[in-house]
Formats: sequence, structure tokens, C-alpha cells
Amino acid sequence: MSETTFEQWESSAAALSIESRAFIDGVYRAAASGRTFDCKSPIDGRLLARVAECGEADVGAAVDAARRAFEQGVWRGLNPRERKAVLLRWAASIRTHARELALLETLDAGKPIGDTTTVDIPGAAYCLEWFAEAIDKVSGEVVPADLHLVGLVTREPIGVVAAVVPWNFPLLMAAWKFAPALAAGNSVVLKPSEKSPLTAIRIAQLAHEAGVPAGVFNVVPGAGETGKLLALHGDVDCIAFTGSTQVGKLIMQYAGQSNLKRVWLELGGKSPNIVLDDCPDLERAAKAAAGAIFYNMGEMCTAGSRLLVHRSIKDAFLDKLLDAARTYAPGHPLDPRTSMGAIIDGVQFERVLGYIEAGRAQARLLAGGSPANVVAGGLYIEPTIFDVTRRDTRIAREEIFGPVLSVISFDDVDEAVAIANDTEYGLAAAVWTASLTRAHEVARRLRAGTVWVNCYDEGGDMNFPFGGYRQSGNGRDKSLHALEKYTELKSTLIRLH
Ligand code: NAD
Repeated sequence: MSETTFEQWESSAAALSIESRAFIDGVYRAAASGRTFDCKSPIDGRLLARVAECGEADVGAAVDAARRAFEQGVWRGLNPRERKAVLLRWAASIRTHARELALLETLDAGKPIGDTTTVDIPGAAYCLEWFAEAIDKVSGEVVPADLHLVGLVTREPIGVVAAVVPWNFPLLMAAWKFAPALAAGNSVVLKPSEKSPLTAIRIAQLAHEAGVPAGVFNVVPGAGETGKLLALHGDVDCIAFTGSTQVGKLIMQYAGQSNLKRVWLELGGKSPNIVLDDCPDLERAAKAAAGAIFYNMGEMCTAGSRLLVHRSIKDAFLDKLLDAARTYAPGHPLDPRTSMGAIIDGVQFERVLGYIEAGRAQARLLAGGSPANVVAGGLYIEPTIFDVTRRDTRIAREEIFGPVLSVISFDDVDEAVAIANDTEYGLAAAVWTASLTRAHEVARRLRAGTVWVNCYDEGGDMNFPFGGYRQSGNGRDKSLHALEKYTELKSTLIRLH
């Protein structure tokens, strides 16, 4: 795939045929109301498709189909080995269609094609493969009990799982939910973001062809209102949400207002990346710091958006950081050489620029700070760096979800840890040090679901649980722990005599 040129990608884009209907009970259908919403590319503002906007009737039909499939046991009733075979076929089909899916993802979300071909699409296939491979190897427990009893502890699929996901890694974030949920035997109703619905819609057909029975995997495109219908639905057993902390709080309320469905939340972050004075390699740390905030246009839940640097090395470090930031000049997302693409839509574009304006008044601008003129009608922002002296400023505290970095100085380790933990979030953190002791000590004190030492954003494999402390959410995606979210634990006690 890497040899495909910019021109070839552009001509493939022009020839692409795009499915834009909901996928319910094994077939594509328009919304019952006939309503659609416009799906535009942030690359240049072109209209990609008019996508079905699912309302109450569609969400109801999808949940009913999911329930029916669950009760009939067409999926959960299979030997796990058989579910594994189907999911592996689906993953293989995603890999076969990887070029088309990567192109869809790039057009829809403005992500560089070099990333969608190497990270998003293969990552989603790998996630499916990982949970498919795992599911026929996890066993229950036989627990110690009185001699007249045999005590079993088993995990059972929970039922109908609704997955509501964001736009920054549209297919990958969806896969982190539906792969473990389906492997465990549940039925799934997936609501992709209205800003990036196309790959989710497309892979539903591939699931069907791979042998996922009708009703087991449904896709209901729509905006927040569609997600709300799922979160309030009385026959949804579990809602797995990735998105903003603000909407995550609403999801919990909807569950409380309806049937107390299980709620799992992967939310925002304002992650600290701490460079101590004994950082072993300033060059590597600077490159990683730039990647931590500018990769994927900063539209990363784990973005290292607060760079904490020891005052004694700050000047030397900033020189290297500014060099590294220059490698993220925005470019055309279909050009394989591009490392930074377009901002997802006009709302997010204005939001990020609003933060930059606020930053100009409160901090010293070191780099960027303006929209970039890449393609007419497109939405691009330069990699932007602020030197922040006041930590109570908006840019230093709030999640921006764009290419804006706040650099904060500190004088000792205790101060660094205090600043790092002074946030409502707790998704990720990093520390750079040559001392093994300091690395462990600081890692223990950081309140975050993932801590990197002398690296950032490492660990693309599925073995690490991923999720947050505090208002970054609850539960964990990835790893065998993800299966805990989509299963109920049952104790069975058998009296022998
Ligand atoms: P968002 O919260 O605006 O939307 C997320 C999803 O929720 C979308 O599908 C949206 O349509 C839906 N939604 C919106 N309002 C709703 C409502 N009232 N009821 C039900 N559903 C509703 O978030 P976003 O802008 O799509 O994504 C950015 C956010 O996602 C950031 O905060 C980012 O940190 C977070 N995120 C977290 C992770 C993680 O794993 N922790 C990963 C990626 C993104």
C-alpha cells in the first residue's frame, strides 16, 4: 500500500462508491423517516454522502433485532471456536478491503492516508483477531467451597450492547468495543460519530459476508440524539461509550433514568508528559513530545497536551521541540508524505482556534497559532506551542483536542507530580528520566490509567488495558479485562449430597 502515490489515491477517491444507509438485522436500509445528514470531507469540504439519520424507529428496530438474535442463540449459542472462525474471517475481509477502508477513513475524518493505512485499519483488524483468538481460551473458575458443594464461577454475555463512539479513530475505537463484545457472544448496536460514519457502515456488510448472523451486528448512524435513544433504551443491557467527559456524564444519567444498563466510559484527557532534568536523550524526548501532541492533529484522547519540563533544561529542550514540530506541517491527507491532516469539521476548527486566541492573551506563543492554507475549503491548523507561566489558564487545563501544546516549567520532582495530578482527568502520563528509581517512584504517584517511561504512545498491541482514572472514565478497553465489561459474572453452587 505504501507505494500508492498521491495521484493514485486521488483517482481512487474519485471512483469510490459510498454506502450511506443504516445496517439493521442483516440488511442496509434508509432511516424510516427518510431523513439524512450531510457527510462532508474536512479535506476540502466536498460532500461525500447523505447518510441515514436514525431515529426512534430505527434504533428500536436495531435493538429488537439484536435482542432477537441474542435470545435465539444464533451467536451466543455457538461454540466459542465457531465465533472465533467467523470473526477471523471478518478481520481477514477488513484486511482485504484495507485500501478502500483507509481511503474512506481519510476522506471522512481528514486523517493522513499514511496513518489510516498503517494504524487505523490494520489496527481494527488486529483488534478483531486478538479477541477472536482469545475467546476460546478463557475459562471460568471452580472455587473453594464446602465439601458438599461444587462452586462454579462463569462469565456470560450480557445481552444487547450499544457502542457509541467518537470520530478521531472512527473504526479503531469502534473495534475496541465491538470486538470484545461480539467475541463474548453479545449482540451489538454501533452508533458511529455523525462526523465519521462511513467505515462503520461499510464493515457491516463485510461482517455479514463473513457469517455474522443477522441482528448480531447493527450500525445506526446519527448524531447525539441517536446515541441518546440508545442510552435511554430499556432493552439495551450495556452501553460502551467513547467520547467527551461532558457527554459521558449524560450517558450515566440516561442509564439512571432508564434501566440501569451497565455504563462503560472512555473519556477525555489532559495528559502530562514530564521531562526531568536527567532525561537520558533530549532529542528523542523532544521528538516524542511533538508526536504526543501533533500526531493525528492532536485529536488524541491521550494527547500529551501538557509538557512539563525541568527549568534547568528548558531552553535546550525547546530548541529541539521546535525542530520536531516543524516535521508536522499540515499537508493534503491523501498525500502519503503528509504527517498532519485536516481538523475534523468546522465546529472543532473554530473551537481550536478559540483556544489559540485565548492562549495568545495568557501565554507566550512559541510556534504556529494560525490556520494553514493547504487545500481550498479544507480545515488545517499549524502545530502550535505555548510557553505557559500560569497554570490556571484555559489552554493549560482544558482538553483542546487539537494541535496545541502548553509547555509548563517546574523546579523539582514533587512540583512536577503535583502539577501532573492537578487535573480532573487521568487517562495517561509520561516521565523521562535516566534513573530507574525515579521512574518507578514517579510512575506510582501519577494518577493515570497508562504511564509511559522514556517514551510516549508506545504499546499498540492489545495486551495493555486502556482507560482512565477519575473523569477520564471507568472500565478498560483492550486486553482480556475488556471482556469483563461485556459479561455478567455468575456463581453456580451445586449440592452433591
Ligand atoms: P462527543 O462526546 O461529542 O461524541 C462522542 C459520541 O457521542 C458521538 O458518537 C456523538 O454523536 C455521541 N453523542 C453526542 N451527544 C450525545 C448524547 N447526548 N447522548 C448520546 N450520545 C451522544 O465526543 P467526540 O467529539 O466525538 O470525541 C472527542 C472526545 O472523545 C474527546 O473528549 C476525547 O478525549 C474522547 N476520546 C476518548 C478516548 C478514550 O479512549 N478515552 C478515545 C478517543 C476519544
